[in-house]
Amino acid sequence: MMEYRINRRTGDRISVIGIGSAYLSDAGMERGTRILREAYEGGINYFDLAAGNGRAFSIWGEALHDVRRQVFYQIHFGADYSSGTYGWSLDPDTVRRSVEWQLETLRTDYIDYGFIHCQDEEKDWNTYREKGIYRYLLRLHEEGVVRHLGLSSHTPSVIRAILDEVPVDMLMFSVNPAYDCGQGEYANGSTAERQAIYRRCEKDGIGISVMKPFSGGQLLRADQSPFRRALSPWQCIRYALDKPGVLTILAGAQTEDEVRTLLRYDTIPDAEKDYGWLGESMPQEAAGTCVYCNHCKPCPAGLDIGLINKYYDLARYGDDLARAHYAKLERHAEDCTGCGHCDRRCPFGVTQSQRMQEIREYMGM
Ligand code: SF4
Ligand code: SF4
Repeated sequence: MMEYRINRRTGDRISVIGIGSAYLSDAGMERGTRILREAYEGGINYFDLAAGNGRAFSIWGEALHDVRRQVFYQIHFGADYSSGTYGWSLDPDTVRRSVEWQLETLRTDYIDYGFIHCQDEEKDWNTYREKGIYRYLLRLHEEGVVRHLGLSSHTPSVIRAILDEVPVDMLMFSVNPAYDCGQGEYANGSTAERQAIYRRCEKDGIGISVMKPFSGGQLLRADQSPFRRALSPWQCIRYALDKPGVLTILAGAQTEDEVRTLLRYDTIPDAEKDYGWLGESMPQEAAGTCVYCNHCKPCPAGLDIGLINKYYDLARYGDDLARAHYAKLERHAEDCTGCGHCDRRCPFGVTQSQRMQEIREYMGM
């Protein structure tokens, strides 16, 4: 059974596995339609449409127009397909024509999440506003054509600045263990800055849709992975879903078999999703930080160690809802007996028995 998570700002119930558009146009109309239908019938309801090629839009239109109300689309204001392939434009007329063409080709008249597209540098946001692209997005939002606002970026400092200014409902951010350790093309921001983005989104109810969960496929290959060992797709997906704020992982699929593989995520045994071995390769900066992986389970006292740590970190960040969730747990930090089992099991160098004392003092109960 597909797991769904709720975007707290919009109420949308979103499948934890979503589909990106990177490879869809290569599949062609017939196979592409079958891929999308297989995904939809398997419970996937979230789709990103930052396609590499404009052909993808007619495939989406054909495959999903009859179930449009049951699915969510992310559409990017600034993506232009007038040449056939993807281009980034900040020309207002080009952006308007592109959005109108996308709606028509998708056979729809509304956008679930209209995205401030591809903001990786401080100057991008200034230009985006000056050129009137943001104003156009807001106008469509006011008219109801765009239901909710989104932002796509790889850069924590830029995300912070825009979130301070714009009521974003969904952030598209690149999340994988390599980037969180400063490894890879889009490993922008320090580990701490990246964690602060996750916590802020969770605190403010902003959903995160994850791009590049496999670091462009590098993490799936031992010869390209910075960890010198391949991760499985399950480990990458689980890693991203463990991060606060994350609602859905956008994965590409070129065949129906690849969709079926993604759909197996929920039935794969937990042991196959365990990414604890990454702890050996974590840089100094990240060592000793709980990543909520639950590799240390089971706790003899029955504590959900990963979840308790997640709520604690969020509460310290000012998230009152996390504090309330913590209060509702069956077992709390005060139930820790200090047995040290988790200290011996944790691959990330966390002395959890001590941390539980810290959590007990901070959270009270
Ligand atoms: S203490 Fe270690 S093993 Fe346990 S959830 Fe945290 S990072 Fe994972
Ligand atoms: S030290 Fe506490 S949290 Fe860790 S395994 Fe023992 S009882 Fe559980």
